[in-house]
Amino acid sequence: MMEQPTQAGASLAGRVALVTGASRGIGRAVALGLAAAGAEVAVNYRSGKDQAEAVVAAIAAAGGKGYALQADVASEEQAAGLISEVAARSGRLDILVNNAGITRDSLLLRAKTEDWNAVLGTNLTGAFFCARAAAKIMMKQRWGRIISLSSIVGLTGNAGQATYAASKAGLIGLTRSLAKELASRQITVNAVAPGFIETDMTAVLPESARTNLAEAIPLGRTGAPEEVAAAVVFLASPTAAYITGQVLVVDGGLSIGGGF
Ligand code: NAD
Repeated sequence: MMEQPTQAGASLAGRVALVTGASRGIGRAVALGLAAAGAEVAVNYRSGKDQAEAVVAAIAAAGGKGYALQADVASEEQAAGLISEVAARSGRLDILVNNAGITRDSLLLRAKTEDWNAVLGTNLTGAFFCARAAAKIMMKQRWGRIISLSSIVGLTGNAGQATYAASKAGLIGLTRSLAKELASRQITVNAVAPGFIETDMTAVLPESARTNLAEAIPLGRTGAPEEVAAAVVFLASPTAAYITGQVLVVDGGLSIGGGF
């Protein structure tokens, strides 16, 4: 049966969401956003236990429901265990947000094999592990949302970021393939591609790089985690029921380039 679109900010009451790498940054904002829309949220973290508990406390303070779960999504066993734990604790899993991500930037000739393996292992293989385990549950439910955090560099490429860009482009191929494969079960699969968002990940960029980047953004400023979270919450909502296999770019216009 067709889902009836509801108003923007539609309620996710009764839905259970898992956000990977949600102790800080974009993942934190997504967890808070999904909880504010009514979902019960599993806040996954790898090492930031206190930060994850603080996210859970913030969800509760805002009147929402959530809990923290430790797991390294790059481990096949831990990723599968994470999904099982959510299903055991909440009885279902409706929304998976593959947010966990790392960078190990370097120019190609200096790039280490271990960096390639680490970046692909977390960003792409981790998302694959989580999606595979989550899809099993969502297929039985005949409803689901899988949303992965890609990046505009997965679309445009970026010198010095070959490993990261390859992982983020890979997520788009994964997204489009799963969208086709899972559509008959009313599971939508989409990606969000942020531009330059102010988080710990981008805080390490040198000031000159930050200034150059900000100047290249048509909207004239960097983005906030909440602005990415809004796109994720939209894609998770009933309003977005007819959107699948898409990449929603949230970048202040950076990827369309400035001037001509
Ligand atoms: P961040 O570094 O602040 O947060 C990433 C989180 O993922 C951290 O909490 C980290 O501990 C967690 N994580 C890393 N490896 C993990 C693993 N193996 N298992 C579980 N958790 C793990 O970064 P952010 O800026 O909030 O980025 C969130 C996502 O958005 C990432 O996938 C990133 O690539 C993507 N993104 C960010 C930007 C940006 O400008 N900040 C732009 C495009 C895409």
